[in-house]
Amino acid sequence: MSNSVRTRFAPSPTGFMHIGNLRTGLYAYLFAKSKGGDFILRIEDTDQERKVEGAVDMIYRTLKTAGISYDEGPDKDAGFGPYVQTERMGLYKEYAEKLVELGGAYYCFCDKERLEGLKDENGVHTYDKHCRNLSKEEVERRLRAGEPYVIRQKVPEGVVSEYEDMVFGKISVNSQDIEDGVLLKSDGLPTYNFANVVDDHLMNITHVIRGTEYLSSTPKYNLIYDAFGWERPKYMHLPPIMKDATRKLSKRFGDANFEDFISKGYLPEAIVNYIALLGWCPKDNREKMSMGEMTEAFDVDGISHSSSIFDEAKMRWLNGEYLKAMGEDEFYAAALPWIEKGINGNNYDKRELARLMRTRVDILSEIPEKLAFLSDFKAYDLAMYEHKKMKVDAAVALRAVGAALDILKSLDDWSEEGIKQAISENAEKYSLKGGQIMFSMRVALTGAAVTPGGAIEMAIVLGREESLKRLEFSEKLLEDAQA
Ligand code: GLU
Repeated sequence: MSNSVRTRFAPSPTGFMHIGNLRTGLYAYLFAKSKGGDFILRIEDTDQERKVEGAVDMIYRTLKTAGISYDEGPDKDAGFGPYVQTERMGLYKEYAEKLVELGGAYYCFCDKERLEGLKDENGVHTYDKHCRNLSKEEVERRLRAGEPYVIRQKVPEGVVSEYEDMVFGKISVNSQDIEDGVLLKSDGLPTYNFANVVDDHLMNITHVIRGTEYLSSTPKYNLIYDAFGWERPKYMHLPPIMKDATRKLSKRFGDANFEDFISKGYLPEAIVNYIALLGWCPKDNREKMSMGEMTEAFDVDGISHSSSIFDEAKMRWLNGEYLKAMGEDEFYAAALPWIEKGINGNNYDKRELARLMRTRVDILSEIPEKLAFLSDFKAYDLAMYEHKKMKVDAAVALRAVGAALDILKSLDDWSEEGIKQAISENAEKYSLKGGQIMFSMRVALTGAAVTPGGAIEMAIVLGREESLKRLEFSEKLLEDAQA
């Protein structure tokens, strides 16, 4: 066996991928890559009842979008495959039988009724080891007779099973607290408890990285490694991500789904960066980091022992930082679909709009709403013209919009500089302040209280013709209101 690090991500196709699942995969990836090792994808689909149509494809898609690439997986066999558990069925039976021979497991023929009878007042049953000491002859006879059976773990008595978790330190469980649980079910399918051990061993996994829900069952799995005489892997259990102080994120409740964030206009690299920080902190406390930087900085010491709360506002902020750091062309390419949605088939200069949006949104999906004024302009609330500090009301606005029309109609140079100069040079002629014209003009051009830029920027994106048309329309609205 080579010594190089091999980690794996072992999602179950039982729904979409929430941020917590993805973080587990990300840490396994970062750890392997930080050590120059391999990262493996394994699909754990033995829970056929909870299997969700399309979930396997979603796993591939998510990893691809997130930029987490695996060295081995269902479509990249490096000799350790198959990498899908249902394609490994024969193996589990073979190894379960081997474990029986080695004294680490036994056949159990107890039927449903008998197990029902073992239930306590809470409906929980602990297996009473009824079949643990059946004679070899009896077992063979019953197997030959075709009696249904399961294979159970033969947990050694009177031992303490202990291991050193890389995050949580020493974990120990007394064997009297471990049930002789089922390893191979009567339908021949393995339980997770067995499959994870067989697969991790056969795939030469050196470091098992997964959620804390497995922290305390790991001593039980280790007893299986021991019974086989296999080397145990090292373990890194990760504290959960919560949606608030008391509730974990849950895929059953549709929480924090990676693909939902993508369709909301988050950038995959920003999501991945944010989730890396949910439970891990680099030594220098940096926040914005690329995958390469995270790989370089990743270390187990930085993994937190306590749970973290998923904070969408923080992720949004980080996404905004990514947008601001983009070059103009890159931003244009990313924003284009959202800009197109915003202009809704109208003919505007998309480059100009991209420039306008670049520093004004934290996530791209804010764009259509911010551009709504371009395609949706109709009679609006004239109260928007009230501005006490600037001494603007509907009457002043009527004069200001009239002045803007006058000034702009004869303007040749329809540029930011040109418009700005023309208004500031001429405002006095109309007994108005430049600011009063600008303010009134912005409302008149957009019909919106909040706009993604000032009057001049709005005039530029709308263009000369549309701007003049809107100013005329607004002048008429103001006149009608005063009549
Ligand atoms: N299929 C398990 C899960 O999705 C994987 C646990 C593990 O990584 O061992 O929770």
